[in-house]
Amino acid sequence: KQHFKLAVIPGDGIGKEVINEGIRVLEFLSTQSNSKFTFETDYFPWGCEYYLENGKMMADDGLEKIEDHDAIYFGAVGFPGVPDHISLWGLRIAICQNFDQWANIRPVEFLPGVKSKLNHPEKEKLNWVLIRENTEGEYSGIGGRNFTGRGARKEVAVQSSLFTEEGCERVIRYAFETALKRDRKKVTSVTKSNAQQYGMVLWDEVFARVSKEYPDVETDQWLVDAMAANFVLRPEELEVVVASNLLADILSDLGSALAGSLGIAASANLNPDRRFPSMFEAVHGSAPDIAGEGIANPIGAIGSAALMLEHLGLKEEAVLVNQAIKDATQSGFLTADIGGNTSTKEMTDSILQQLSNIYEKA
Ligand code: NAD
Ligand code: MN
Repeated sequence: KQHFKLAVIPGDGIGKEVINEGIRVLEFLSTQSNSKFTFETDYFPWGCEYYLENGKMMADDGLEKIEDHDAIYFGAVGFPGVPDHISLWGLRIAICQNFDQWANIRPVEFLPGVKSKLNHPEKEKLNWVLIRENTEGEYSGIGGRNFTGRGARKEVAVQSSLFTEEGCERVIRYAFETALKRDRKKVTSVTKSNAQQYGMVLWDEVFARVSKEYPDVETDQWLVDAMAANFVLRPEELEVVVASNLLADILSDLGSALAGSLGIAASANLNPDRRFPSMFEAVHGSAPDIAGEGIANPIGAIGSAALMLEHLGLKEEAVLVNQAIKDATQSGFLTADIGGNTSTKEMTDSILQQLSNIYEKA
């Protein structure tokens, strides 16, 4: 049996609630008689409460503490009282950048029984995956604020994007490799290279060069504003969509909302070189507006646990979890955000019930 050591960072708000549900699913799988794995967890209480007590989002040696784990399972960060740029940079982005998690994988899935916002004849056949560049681009952290000599209300701030040829190439190549594994082999690149004439033009050039190495993969390139419209108007054209850090972040919330809710979207922050641990987290944030009510949708977090299983070599288990999620929504178990009144815990209960049904049949 394989044994995994997971670093668990619940974070803030509903992050704490949904993480428990993902762990319940992992526990169920690992305790089945034919299970191929066992796991242990180390919990790290980092986040906004930790910040208010300690003046930092994680321990000074936080990265070292989690570096030797097989994977990181992450809730969400951000809570009123701590500026969002502090909570995000102090924990989530710090981990992504320091562990070189350069590929953020965000599948868009349409679940049976979930009312989609999209008016499309074959919704349940739709699914695509967003590949987000995750270490540079618009989230380079390069910039500054200028207080000098301009007078009151004349402050200037500069926020620079960083595009490196290596950074573009590795994530674009990852998108092509992903496309090769899908039925329809197609990669769509999204930029705003008409307005952003340096970094995004470099991106476009790298895309053109790399695409020549994949003659069997269909390609197209879009500007992000037109692509936002395509998400709604022609979603059947989407397969693998690769974009910069900011653009893909925005498009992934749009994709999950079209599929029904931000609460169902899963993601993997991968260090494909496997020099560092990868991190798995739902796409959504800490949702302070519903935190503590026990109504958050755990599907995004549970789907992220499935992506973690896949990354750890447990592909079959990952497929089963995704199947159980679909069986649960199909049989009418829906949290409030997707049109029902199932609680967070009951949603997981129904997924576990479907999992045991699958195991009994096997
Ligand atoms: P959000 O994703 O937290 O919430 C947006 C809306 O979607 C809210 O109305 C919320 O109730 C709903 N929602 C989100 N997840 C849900 C779920 N699982 N079930 C049911 N409803 C759900 O985004 P926001 O409101 O823009 O940000 C809130 C905080 O989260 C901010 O502090 C922000 O910085 C932070 N944030 C963190 C991450 C992260 O940790 N990766 C990502 C995005 C936002
Ligand atoms: Mn986001």
